[in-house]
Parts: sequence; structure tokens; C-alpha cells
Amino acid sequence: MVLQISDKTQASVQFDPYLYRKDFPILETIVHGKPLVYFDNAATTQKPEAVIQTIVDYYQGMNANVHRAIHYLGETATMAFEEARQKVARFINAPSARQIVFTRGTTEAINLVATAWGEKFISAGDEIILSEMEHHSNLIPWQILAQKVGAKLRFIPFTSEGVLDFEAFEKILSNKTRIISLTYMSNVFGTINPIKRIIRMAKDRGIPVLLDGAQSVPHLPTDVQALDCDFLAFSGHKMLGPTGIGVLYAKINHLENMNPYQGGGEMIQSVWLERATWNEIPYKFEAGTPNIAGAIALGAAVDYLSAVGMKNITLYEQELTTYALKKLAELDELVIYGNAPERGGVISFNLGEVHPHDLSHFLDQQGIAVRAGHHCAQPIMRKLDIAATTRASFYFYNTFEEIDYFVEQLKEAITFFNP
Ligand code: PMP
Repeated sequence: MVLQISDKTQASVQFDPYLYRKDFPILETIVHGKPLVYFDNAATTQKPEAVIQTIVDYYQGMNANVHRAIHYLGETATMAFEEARQKVARFINAPSARQIVFTRGTTEAINLVATAWGEKFISAGDEIILSEMEHHSNLIPWQILAQKVGAKLRFIPFTSEGVLDFEAFEKILSNKTRIISLTYMSNVFGTINPIKRIIRMAKDRGIPVLLDGAQSVPHLPTDVQALDCDFLAFSGHKMLGPTGIGVLYAKINHLENMNPYQGGGEMIQSVWLERATWNEIPYKFEAGTPNIAGAIALGAAVDYLSAVGMKNITLYEQELTTYALKKLAELDELVIYGNAPERGGVISFNLGEVHPHDLSHFLDQQGIAVRAGHHCAQPIMRKLDIAATTRASFYFYNTFEEIDYFVEQLKEAITFFNP
């Protein structure tokens, strides 16, 4: 089905997921005799041929270490690596590629800030604001920091709709707050948080804001200058890129003022036996040999996403999610967690008392890949008083037909489990 999507600012767009699916060889997989329906995109996305080929091309034609060798391969690899940094910078509208630090992923990017920025600028009695809906990646690094320096963590609660409680946020914001670190889009509820409003309030008080963009950057157009965030962390593998590569974007003054995160080669300028001086940004934060192939392939992923159009992706996924939610609402046995007015394509649910592992096993037998578990967000599960959920999460290569099939199979599951 070719979907006509229209929004207020753009003429109607033809969006044909089948056209893009041809670029993803893995989507042709047959699972237990059934065509694969891949609904685990919040965990990781599939890779188009262009990204896979970029990795092969790198190792076949330009493999060398970067920034060091004065030889053809070394210079070719360095140019491709730095070009990828430029592409990522343009993709999120960063003012300069110097503000793009390559990391292993969102997790490492947040740990970098909590350690290198946090240990320098947060001390005993200071407060760090997070929310109750954070992924462990945006919780544990701050717990470690708080324990080390004697700071206090404060949490914005979420409501029964899976939406941040803004009034509660206003109450915990104080002159003790040193940083606010929040997920832009929840990996459990799909909620798109009111980040702009939060950043505006933080700016009025001179408080920096870190955004966990692991779920937002792959699905929404991102403009760090318009957002005015201080830090943005995201992962390549959730946006068509390979695993083991991610990004920390930060404002120049933070990068200049922060301590290095790890020590080693590449991050230094001059080294003596007793001391050293640091390389310029972003290299000050990239100790050791980086994931060169990964970064270049992330550049290819960004090219692919830009060609599809981030706005088109957002609009199409909105249509897909609205359709899925409408059909799922017809199944009385299903409890859906989260009902935010602004949301992305992540749907968490339970089928009565059926254990999510049993349900996901059942769906797997029908070729459907969903996630079952706590989704690295145990505090959310605790607050909802459940052990786990089943989670379906979409990307632009998913189709309305797949959703119809998924709903049909859920009906079969209801008959089978009789919850
Ligand atoms: N934050 C959120 C909201 C996520 O969904 C994830 C991945 N599930 C992460 C952080 C961590 O990303 P990574 O494992 O790629 O570092």
C-alpha cells in the first residue's frame, strides 16, 4: 500500500515502505516458515545494503588507522572518518563537526558527560533532575556520580498516561539543580516528552540539559540549535547504523571545559612521564583507536535517512502507530501502557496475566519479532507494578499489512492463552 501522507506544512507525500524494504535484505527472512515481521526496532534497527556495503568497502579498500599514518590508506580512512563526522553534524544541525564526539553508543555518551562534566561541575548538595521513565543508561551513570560526589537525584514523576508531570517538575526545579538529563522519547511508553518547554525553563535558570536521543534521533528530525540542548546522546544502531558507534553532541563551551573521559592515544597533545596536555576537541574525548568502520557506516546510515526524509519518516510512523493503536484498542484483553498525545511508534502492552516471554515466544512462532522484558527500565515496571511488558516498535520499513497480521496473531494468542 502506498500511503498518502500530508501535513500542514508540506504538500502530500507519497511514502512507499515497500520501496525501502528492498534495501533491507534481512526483511526477506523466513522465520519458522513465516515471513519475518520485525517489530523490535526500539532495541535495534535493521541495516540497508548501503550501510552493510560501506563496512565491506572500508575493510576491503581503505582499512588503516586514522589521524596517524602519512600514507594513502591512512589518509583515505581519515578523510572518510572525518566526512562521517560532518554528515552527523549536518544531520542534527550542529554548528560544527568539532561538536560531534564518536562514542560506542548512547550509554557511553551519557557516562562520558556524567563522569567528565559531572565530576568537575557537580558537588555535594547539588541536585540532578532525571525522570522516572529513564532507560537505565540515563539513570545509573548519574547514580554513580551522585554517590561519588554526594549529590542528590530528583525525579520528574510520570502520570498514569505515561506523561511527565510538569507541575511536579516545576516544584523540584531549584537553585540547587545543576543539570537536567531526560529522555526525549520513552523506549517503554513511546511518549515524546515536552523537551522544548523543559529546556526553556532550564535556560531561564542557566541549567544545562542533556537529552537522551536514543529513541528520538532515529525517528524525528533533530535540530540541536533549535532545541538549544547542551548535550545530546544517541546510538548508530537504532538508526540503520552498526552497533558499537554512537554520538555525543555538546555545546563547545562544555567540551572545552570538561575533563577528558578516558586517557590514552589520540586524546593527548604532548606527553611527559608525569603529565600530559590534551588534544583539541573532539579528539580530547576519543581515546584509543575509534570504531572507524562503524563511524563511516553511520555516515552512510545518515545519508540513507536523509534521502528518505526525516519528516516523511515521522509522519509515516505516526500514521502507522495511530492505526496500530486503533486496532489494538479493539482487543479487550490487552492493556496498553502509555497514552501520550504526542508519541512515537513504541507500544508496550500485556495480555492479561500471560507472561510477556510466553507471548513473545508465541508471536515468534508466527514470524513476529517483539521484545519482552523490563526494557532496561525497571523503575517504570516497579511503578506500574508489573514484572515486564511485551513491546512492539516500528520503523519506516514496517507496513500496515504487518500490523494487520500482528493483530490477527494477537487474536490467535488470546484464543490460545485464554487470558
Ligand atoms: N536510552 C534509551 C531511551 C534507549 O532506548 C536505549 C537503548 N535501548 C539507550 C538509552 C541505550 O542505548 P545503547 O544501548 O545503544 O547505548
